[in-house]
Amino acid sequence: MADKKSPAREFLEAKKNGFDRISDKDRGEMYKFADAYRVYIDRSKTERETVDTSIELAKAHGFVEYKRGMKLAAGDKVYVNNRGKALMLATIGKRSPAEGVRIAGAHVDCPRLDLKTSPLYEDTEIAYFKTHYYGGIKKFYWLNMPLELHGVVAKKDGTVVKVAFGADPSEPVLVISDILIHLSGEQMKKPLAEAIPGENLNVILGTEPAQDDDGSDRVKLAVMNILHEKYGIVEADLHSAELSLVPAMNSRDVGFDRSLIGAYGHDDRVCGYDALRALLDLSGAPEQTSVVLLCDKEEVGSTGVSGMHSACFDTFMEDICDSFGVPLRVCYENSVCLSNDVAAAYDPTWSGPFERHNSAFLNYGMGITKYTGSRGKSGASDAAAELVARVRAILDDADVVWQMAPLGAVDAGGGGTIAGIMANRNIDTIDSGVPVLGMHSPWEIISKLDLYMTYKGIKAFFESTK
Ligand code: MN
Ligand code: MN
Repeated sequence: MADKKSPAREFLEAKKNGFDRISDKDRGEMYKFADAYRVYIDRSKTERETVDTSIELAKAHGFVEYKRGMKLAAGDKVYVNNRGKALMLATIGKRSPAEGVRIAGAHVDCPRLDLKTSPLYEDTEIAYFKTHYYGGIKKFYWLNMPLELHGVVAKKDGTVVKVAFGADPSEPVLVISDILIHLSGEQMKKPLAEAIPGENLNVILGTEPAQDDDGSDRVKLAVMNILHEKYGIVEADLHSAELSLVPAMNSRDVGFDRSLIGAYGHDDRVCGYDALRALLDLSGAPEQTSVVLLCDKEEVGSTGVSGMHSACFDTFMEDICDSFGVPLRVCYENSVCLSNDVAAAYDPTWSGPFERHNSAFLNYGMGITKYTGSRGKSGASDAAAELVARVRAILDDADVVWQMAPLGAVDAGGGGTIAGIMANRNIDTIDSGVPVLGMHSPWEIISKLDLYMTYKGIKAFFESTK
């Protein structure tokens, strides 16, 4: 056999399963990393909780809250908490922001069922909350399965009550009922998208009537009494609340070999964790300022004050630039962004909507997605060929196992990320992230190898000068 492999042979080998390519050191690190990620995601069931968990980690790594006017210097580590729902962090680099910064942006909101703003009612002596689903869900997932209630209730006196009901195993859970199969004749004839009306996603809260009252709605009253006792809130406070039902399931290792992780919210807290850890694990000041964004509202279009369209990001970047006397537009045009969002992993059981030659596979590493969109690339953010080449070089130099990761077959569907929003700011942007099986289900599946390699890839991106 020849000492040096031909380029054609090298390309074939680059297409191998990551387990046949990683070093023993990476294999060991990968399992430790996966355990730490599981702790993070189990504590982060909403975007607010994810921001809290992330700030705690960042502070432990020397990050401080940025205050406008702070004079920044290489090696400084700062963060801005955007209203408790999104987080921006930066480690200041040795070079001026005029030479651009390196941004890794992920989103930490996930599909779920939000409570309506007047949610509480009683019907046939059962108390319920009305819900309004958030993001793209298949509604059947959410029936007859245990649910926790997470979020905040803001009171008129300015206090904000945090709720994580069901998170403690000693607490009960909540549930939405489906119609029994014996009486499902009509439902079973309907297409999946129509079989469960959104207005039927009503969650059961209790059934025991209040004993010290002889008026109407005694079950509802009894539930409100419990909420008052436990959280100090009255029914009107639910108007100014953000409460969400999430699956009452923590993460678990999956498979006899423990190679996978099942959890609620991999999309996209997995990339959020990878990006955050990549930033926290940088030793010393990087050449270019490294920025991590954990953003909100991606699942509903990134609009609003905490979404990626918000000027909150531009303000943060302008504050950093001001500290060095650099115009924001000069920084942007020299910056690069990895839009870190999950990819669709090829599923052999549901292979129909995939195209095998252009798919991401479990255990083949960090996914790089040149463009998204649907049909004729409608709505796509398409990274330039030159940018793809730069990223390839960075990842190969750092021994990152990676793969190209397009989203499904042509005409099968489509999707988007924050990439287009960043690119519209005149920042070169490319999508990349962890492949997921069963994306947007209540318990998504990822591989530990891909989780670790995406972290390694983002860290290499921050450390590189390419
Ligand atoms: Mn999503
Ligand atoms: Mn996503």
